[in-house]
Amino acid sequence: MTAGAIYLDNHSTTPVDPAVLLEQEPYFSESCGNAASRTHVYGWRAAEAVDEARSCAARLIGGRASDLVFTSGATESNNLAILGVARAAGLGGHLIATAAEHRAALDPARALQADGFDVTVLPVDRDAGVGADRVADAIRPDTVLVSVIHANNEVGTINPIAEIGAVCREREVLFHTDATQTVGRIPIDVSKLPVDLMSFSAHKMYGPKGVGALYVRHETVQGRIRPLMYGGGHERGLRSGTLPVPLIVGFGKACELCEGQMEEESRRIGRLRDRLWERLQAEIPDVARNGDPANGLPGNLNVSFLGVPSEAFLVKLRDVVAVSAGSACTSANPEPSHVLRAMGLSSDRIESAIRFGIGRFNTYQEIEYVANAVRDAVAELRR
Ligand code: PMP
Repeated sequence: MTAGAIYLDNHSTTPVDPAVLLEQEPYFSESCGNAASRTHVYGWRAAEAVDEARSCAARLIGGRASDLVFTSGATESNNLAILGVARAAGLGGHLIATAAEHRAALDPARALQADGFDVTVLPVDRDAGVGADRVADAIRPDTVLVSVIHANNEVGTINPIAEIGAVCREREVLFHTDATQTVGRIPIDVSKLPVDLMSFSAHKMYGPKGVGALYVRHETVQGRIRPLMYGGGHERGLRSGTLPVPLIVGFGKACELCEGQMEEESRRIGRLRDRLWERLQAEIPDVARNGDPANGLPGNLNVSFLGVPSEAFLVKLRDVVAVSAGSACTSANPEPSHVLRAMGLSSDRIESAIRFGIGRFNTYQEIEYVANAVRDAVAELRR
């Protein structure tokens, strides 16, 4: 572990907020009950804590608590949405996803394809976004699901999910959005959005790793989704398995904190991001910003330092700043970013791309320090 490096990889994961940790603690020990145990106070207390957390998560997204299914994270939520809807539809169905989805949505779609399901992977524009028109053109009579990421985890571009959802609703196709990068960071209100299924994850919003949720609008999805796991019939039969009460409690607290501070926090983080870009752009020649600055996540800054391979950048600055090249979530796979490729960027731009992800605990001083160090390091690497 490199102590002292400034953490600017908040799209990959976020530190747990101290208030979240505090809330979780008793549920590891003295309040150790199984939320499904109906015969004693330990079980009742655990069930109450889960209910409370479910309400907090539901409030944050404007949904009904009974429409939330707790999962192990957004990878599972995406898999449940995509594989679950496809399985309920049976073979012969058609699914649409975009080329800039996270691997946790693209890979289940590809797995379905290998099983004989028909999958359309929609191309994206230069910013990694996709318009509702393109989705509308791809919908066929046998389409059962459209899956579009809300904000891209690499370049931060926010997709028009209200318009896309409206197209899906009109054509009676279920719409899933992977909102892992947006829930808790920008306002989302499923009571006003035509979204049928939505994935999100606690560890992207200062909660613990290993817990997430799939929002399932039962009104529209009922009977059109199957579980991936069978067992005790937890979570309305959609996700069997003993609930991880301490993680769920932490998730609920994280949601509550985000709800209270999101507006102010996103403004503050956006200012830090703008400051970082202002300095990099002014002080370093040949830099290019990837994504749509006018329509992006507040904390996202994806920059190509042309001529500087991202690996060299990461090695040089590893004691200074923790960032990622492309998507850290797929760093098990050292291939160049599929998102940047789908955007049609040049190979130089792809190979020199660095993702800065600013979060709750970053300060102005840290941004200044990082900007100085990056300026000097890039000059040295180019020498
Ligand atoms: N979708 C997106 C957009 C993500 O950024 C991530 C995390 N990198 C995931 C899905 C997977 O989430 P989890 O780690 O909770 O499985």
